[in-house]
This record gives sequence, C-alpha cells and structure tokens, in this order.
Amino acid sequence: MSCELKSKDRAGVINPIFTCQPAGAQFVSIGVKDCIGIVHGGQGCVMFVRLIFSQHFKESFELASSSLHEDAAVFGALHRVEQGVDVLLMRYPHVKVVPIITTCSTEIIGDDIDGVILKLNNGLLKEKYADREVHLISIHTPSFVGSMISGYDIAVKDFVSHFAQKEGMVNGKINVITGWVNPGDVTEVKSLLKEMQVEATVLFEIETFDSPMMPDGNHISHGETTIDDLRSTGNAIGTIALNRYEGGKAALYLEKEFDIPAIIGPTPIGIRNTDTFLQNIKKMTGKPIPESLVRKRGIAVDAITDLTHMFLAGKKVAIYGSPDLVIGLAQFCLDMEMLPVLLLLGDDNTSYASDPRIRELKENVEFNMEIITNADFWELETRIKNDGLELDLILGHSKGRFIPIDYNIPMVRVGFPVYDRAGHYRYPVVGYAGATWLAEQMANTLFTDMEYKHNKEWVLGVW
Ligand code: SF4
Repeated sequence: MSCELKSKDRAGVINPIFTCQPAGAQFVSIGVKDCIGIVHGGQGCVMFVRLIFSQHFKESFELASSSLHEDAAVFGALHRVEQGVDVLLMRYPHVKVVPIITTCSTEIIGDDIDGVILKLNNGLLKEKYADREVHLISIHTPSFVGSMISGYDIAVKDFVSHFAQKEGMVNGKINVITGWVNPGDVTEVKSLLKEMQVEATVLFEIETFDSPMMPDGNHISHGETTIDDLRSTGNAIGTIALNRYEGGKAALYLEKEFDIPAIIGPTPIGIRNTDTFLQNIKKMTGKPIPESLVRKRGIAVDAITDLTHMFLAGKKVAIYGSPDLVIGLAQFCLDMEMLPVLLLLGDDNTSYASDPRIRELKENVEFNMEIITNADFWELETRIKNDGLELDLILGHSKGRFIPIDYNIPMVRVGFPVYDRAGHYRYPVVGYAGATWLAEQMANTLFTDMEYKHNKEWVLGVW
C-alpha cells in the first residue's frame, strides 16, 4: 500500500487538463476594477480564453489583444503594444490599469515589454494622458513553461508588487488571496470573515462575476478589486493565501518586502481545512471563533455524517484539475472514508514534491494511490480502458467529461471550466457550506447512478 508521486512517463500531451500561462494572468486581470489587459500575442490567445470564461460564468468579460501577424515573428511587434495602449485608453475613458500579458510567441521573439512600458510611461502617458491615472504592468507568462495555474500566481504577484505600499499605520485588515475560485466561494469566504468580525481585503474580488441583469442593461462583468485595495495590501496585519499555487507568491512577496506575516493554505476544502482556516484567522487577528460558526460547522458535520458511512465510504475516486483543489478534495474524500486512488495534476511544478499535504498523503495513505504530475486525460482513460482501474466516481471539470460518459462512471463537476451544468459557479467548495455542497453532490450523483443502473440497494430504499 503506497502513495506514489510521479510524472507522466510519456512525451507529448493527449487532451490537456490545463491551458497555458496567459489564461491565468487574464483571469486575474478581469478581477480588477477599471482594468483591461492587453495580451501581447495572437488573437487566439485571448479569444479562446474569453470564450472559456464566458462559458463558465455565462457572462462577458473585456480583454484586448495586440493581435500579432506573421511579420511580428520576424520584426517584433512592440509597436502594436504602443498602438494597443493608446487605442484602449481612447476607447475606454474609465480604464486605469492595463496589464501587458506576454505569450509564447512574444517571449520567443524577445519583445521587451518592460522597455516599451518605460517608453509609454515617459512618452504617450505624459503627453496625451497627463490628466489620467494609468498603470501599465508587465506580466511575463510564456506558455512553454508552467500552466494557467502558474500564470495566475505570477499575475497576482505582479499586480500586488506594482501597487502595494506601506503608508503610516497598519490598517487593521488582513489580505485574503482567494486563488482561482468561483463567486460562490468568495461569498462563503466573506461570510466566514463577517461572522468573525474580521475586516479583509479580498483579492481578487470576483463575487460580481455572478452579475445581475439590471434595467439599464449592463452587459460586461468585472471584478471589484480596486487600486486602493491593492495599495492597501502593504499595510495589512497579515496575508492568508487560500491556495499555495494560486497566490502564494504574492503572500511571500508581501512578507519579504513589508514584513507582513503570510499563511499559505491549506485550501479550506472540507471540515478539517476550514477549521484550520478559521484558527489561522483567529491567530492572525486575535478574534474568537463565534458560536454561530460552531453551529454552522455542526450542521455541516451532521449532513456529512448522514452520508459518509452508508454511501461514500470505500468509494474509489479519481480527481483532476488545479493542484490546490485536487489536493483539498483528496483530503476531504479521505476524511469521508473514500478512496481517492488517482490524482491528476496538469502541470509539472517541481515544488509538488515538497508540498506538506502531498507528503502527508504519502506517509499516511493505507491503499494504493497515484499522484501524476504533468498529467493529461489519457492518463485517466488508459488506466480505465487498458489497466482495469475501477472507479466509483470522478471529480473534475467539464473538459474531461467524455471519459465518465464513455465508461459509464458517475461524475461531479468541480473546478474550472464547468460549462455543462447550470449555476455551478454559484456554489462554493470552500468553507462549511462548500463541504456540505460537495458531500451532497457526490452522494446525489451516486444515488442517480444507482437508480439508473437499477442498483438494488437504492431501489430497496435502505436510507
Ligand atoms: S499556447 Fe501560445 S499561442 Fe496558444 S494560447 Fe497559449 S500563449 Fe497563445
């Protein structure tokens, strides 16, 4: 019985789990108010990413492209960034923040976006936009290293390091870096903070990605993190990054530059990790955990207990997606006596080996578990098709749905992107509410499968 961490031992990728680094940077940029990012690359680097955002959130988001063509590969295309910034500022008078996000092509060409930002700051912005507050931020996200996860991590750090300032007294707030989450997660995190009476700067504040349809007919969604929020991160009493790989870099930056204590993870998925999250807030702020949260915890534990022993225990699960989500879900499955036998992480971050949560899994798991890095969907499919892997449940995003469909395995959608289930973004996976939702989703999915397959246990109504 062992838990093995290993990399996919095959060159090439068959049906990737992740997309590339610039997608992560684009996700961060749509979380900032009065911000439109320019992606320095081909149009597809924006078009397909915007499409996935819209598919997942059922909203429209604004992102620009420098729109390279063949000549750029030979002569470079910094002039298109210069034109792009000018056009963007003319067209959108409210825009104050313009991240310039690189891609594989412009990193290979070697376009010097830091140099062009310097030129624009000293030229165009002073001459034509002297009366406007405009911030140009370089974000280097070549797609031939990392993934959308590392792109997110880099971009959060670049936004924070651009704006964070230490001004006078500590502001009494904590920074909470959510990572790549859903509006429902932000709502849950804010609710926990409110019950603890803790003031926080939530980065990035994307609760509004679940936008209302208003009488004036607004059509565009954007996040609510402001320049002032980002500036104030340098004056906080501490930073909690919910995810290690999606915001951890920024938390460490604030600790190093401004001496702001950082707590990175664990991702508050499940009861155990939510308890730790609340204890960390208590430690950082001195605020007690109120009785109301003890009660909420109790309701979640009661709901989960009703399901665990009878339906969830012993079920074999495969989980794929972003590392913090996958690891958090695996921990939660273990707490519910399930058997997460296969974890698939879609990139090859070398620090996975030193992740304390993975170390804990390696030391304590009492069944055979594989954690595959740099994984693709073929890693999952070949185990089912060719190696006889039997699964009761698959947890992951919509891009892998063809495997459970083809092999008749129940699946719970979780992660990003999910576009084939209604209202998915509205429900949290973090906090006590998230633990309840996840456990009930898993159980209901298994119930539906039992009905569909005429499983006697369910037909007889033993519950
Ligand atoms: S792999 Fe390169 S070309 Fe393709 S979307 Fe990513 S950055 Fe753009």
